[in-house]
Formats: sequence, C-alpha cells, structure tokens
Amino acid sequence: MLSIQNLTKRYRGIPAIDDVSFTVAPGEIVGYLGPNGSGKSTTVKIITGILEPSGGSVLFHGRDIRDDMTGFRASFGYVPEEAQVYTHLSGLEYLQLVGRLRGLEERPLEARATRLLELLGLQSWRHSPISVYSKGMKQRVLIAAALLHNPRLLIFDEPLSGLDVVSARLFKDLLVELAAEGKAILYISHVLEVVEQVCDRVIVIAKGRILADAPPADLTRLMALPNLESVFAELV
Ligand code: ADP
Ligand code: MG
Repeated sequence: MLSIQNLTKRYRGIPAIDDVSFTVAPGEIVGYLGPNGSGKSTTVKIITGILEPSGGSVLFHGRDIRDDMTGFRASFGYVPEEAQVYTHLSGLEYLQLVGRLRGLEERPLEARATRLLELLGLQSWRHSPISVYSKGMKQRVLIAAALLHNPRLLIFDEPLSGLDVVSARLFKDLLVELAAEGKAILYISHVLEVVEQVCDRVIVIAKGRILADAPPADLTRLMALPNLESVFAELV
C-alpha cells in the first residue's frame, strides 16, 4: 500500500535521513524503531507531506503522493509526535468539528465519533470538556480524530510517550483490531518492548539509515550484532 523509495532529507546539508526505503502492506503493523534523533519523525513528516524530501519518493498504491496530495490526505490518519489538544469542547464536539473540517456528513459522523470514543474508553467522558481530560485521555481523543474518516493507512509517531498504562493497553488492543480490519499501520517508537509485542515487522533506523527490516522474533539476534548493539543500547 505504502512504498517509501530512497528518501533523503538534508537540513542545511546535514542528512537527517539517508536513502530510506521500506513498504507497509494492508493488515500489517510495521514498527519504526530508533534512538532519539535517528530520523523517525523526519521520515513520517515527508510521508504526510509536511516536509519535502531532498530526494526519493513516496508511493501510495503505486502512485507518487505528490501527484494527488489531496486524495492521499483523505487516505491516511496521522497522530504527530508533538500533538496536543487544548479546547473547552467536549470529546464528542471536538471530533464532530474535526469531521466537519474534513467534509464528513453530519449523521454518520456523530455515530462514528461516538463509536470511536467508546473504543478508546471515553464513552462516559464524551460530553465533558477536553480541558478536564488527563494527558492519556487527550492523546486518545487525538487517536480517535486520526481514525474519524476511516483511513486505510495509519501513522502514529511515538503515541505512547507519557501515556498511562490504561491508555497504553487500549491503544495496543486498538492497533491489533485495526490491522485485523486490513489497515496498514506505521508505528513509530523508541520503546523496544512495545514494538516487539504488537508489530509484524520492525524497521530499525539509526543516524538516518535503515539498519534492519525484520520480524520481531529476530530482534534478540539483531541486538547482538556488532553494528546494532550500540543502537539497541540507546533504546529504553
Ligand atoms: P527522531 O524522530 O528519530 O527522534 P528526527 O527525525 O526528529 O529524529 O530528527 C533527525 C535528525 O534531524 C536529528 O539530528 C535532528 O536534530 C535533525 N532535525 C530534525 N528537524 C530539524 C530541523 N527542522 N532543522 C534542522 N535539523 C533538524
Ligand atoms: Mg521523533
């Protein structure tokens, strides 16, 4: 579904990512694992069209996303690393607002927003202002917002950072459910254990270069490789 081809991004001449290639198929949860500053967020900012690559391309169903950015935007859901939500709207009102901005129809929108809030354990909070939600609950609302238009591709950048255990568990269950529905999922993390638990494949990146693309069962073996040992040592 998603094919990343030879992506390179330089900031003032210094490469943040260098010749990055990988694919994500429908129904697959792909972990994108690397230490801080390894180029994970840069990669997803290029995929989501926030950043222009210095080289390479991103294909969605075989077509360059730059040929139809509007169409591509409707096809993915994204929770950025630094995502925050400050509002006095309730969870339900916020999702309805986001849905309207995306041009979704009013009645199916309310039903879908309600369903997503329930899936994310926020049903009894749906009429409460988001300003009273915990950090984890706010993050769950952002995850619901990313799913609102039923996208086929999902991109989560460090979604569990600072999350409580209830939110983390709900999120992991949701990932598995979404993959079972056939969604393609790119899951960025620097937490080895979580990636190991839920991913079908794990891509390891360090200093902007992909060092491994393997099933999670291979991670123990990879951790012992001389060129990867120091990379894994930097992960929590
Ligand atoms: P990660 O998400 O894996 O922590 P990033 O993709 O955020 O890594 O960053 C990769 C590298 O690019 C880092 O060395 C970072 O300092 C650098 N970088 C990121 N954004 C910018 C920017 N806007 N300007 C200059 N350098 C940047
Ligand atoms: Mg990052």
